[in-house]
Amino acid sequence: ENVLLKVDNLKKYFPIKGGIFGNKTMKQVKAVDGVSFEVMEGETFGIVGESGCGKSTAGRTILRLLEPTEGSIYFQGKNIAELNPNEMRRLRKDIQIVFQDPFASLNPRMKVRDIIEEPLINFGVSDRREREKRVLEVADQVGLTAAQLTRFPHEFSGGQRQRIGIARALISKPKLIIADEPVSALDVSIQSQVLNLMRDLQKEFGLTYIFISHDLSVVKHFCDRIGVMYLGKMVEIAEKHSLYDDPLHPYAEALLSALPSPHPLQMKNRIILKGDVPSPSNPPSGCTFHPRCPSCMDICKTERPSLQVIRDNHAVSCHLYESTEKLAVAAGELK
Ligand code: SF4
Ligand code: MG
Repeated sequence: ENVLLKVDNLKKYFPIKGGIFGNKTMKQVKAVDGVSFEVMEGETFGIVGESGCGKSTAGRTILRLLEPTEGSIYFQGKNIAELNPNEMRRLRKDIQIVFQDPFASLNPRMKVRDIIEEPLINFGVSDRREREKRVLEVADQVGLTAAQLTRFPHEFSGGQRQRIGIARALISKPKLIIADEPVSALDVSIQSQVLNLMRDLQKEFGLTYIFISHDLSVVKHFCDRIGVMYLGKMVEIAEKHSLYDDPLHPYAEALLSALPSPHPLQMKNRIILKGDVPSPSNPPSGCTFHPRCPSCMDICKTERPSLQVIRDNHAVSCHLYESTEKLAVAAGELK
């Protein structure tokens, strides 16, 4: 397996309006706060978490639709974070994005064929016939007819509009597609059609996906490996079955406990978390999950846990899984 994308200590901080400039204590929202993960060629890597956890910001920062505050983003060994605008524009052919809301992301005044074609013009494909041929090709691949290409986005249903969004992403023959809640705005019956299409396209073209979603059922169905985000950090990264069968982080445990059990006779206790997600402008000390964690220990309030591999391909950031020796030191029993 080859690593296609390696994200290392990625941070995206937004200054808060009205913060005191020139003052080192200026307030910031730490939307993405030191996220690291790898994505293998041909896999679907899911990023899950509640709204506001930083997953969309992470996706946009990887594409440099937002400038990273810190960190590296290696795509095929090249650090995207260091590319100049020209190099970045060329690289966009290889990394595309599909947005959540096809209604908002498609220009209502453009015909579908022009919407799908536009990236080719931006990438400097000057031969009109070549572009036309390619538009027909991808339209066919996503299940749109030639006749539909002369219509406008408002004439299409939500699922069809997402096909248009996918065609637009596909036209430059990307290697990686970042899909940000691509089916969240769609009816459940339409969701699986779009997911099946994405899976077929993945097989046919060897695509790699980063699949951003708040919906744990969809992620379970669609992803190979998953990273769970909480308040701008990855708290657990694991292969799908390892995560769903035996989540390690108390936050992931609570999220997954809310899923309906595949075996109705097998009782599962739903874990209800206290309180809401705190504001990322003022995150709690130590482990940022500690005010809500049912397993919180003293060390959790002051020391930030680091992401560590606990078992095969399964990493977690939680003091519960650190060595007993370290816990003893923290408790003052050892020096
Ligand atoms: Fe809970 Fe502590 Fe683990 Fe954080 S580090 S998730 S507070 S047990
Ligand atoms: Mg989002």
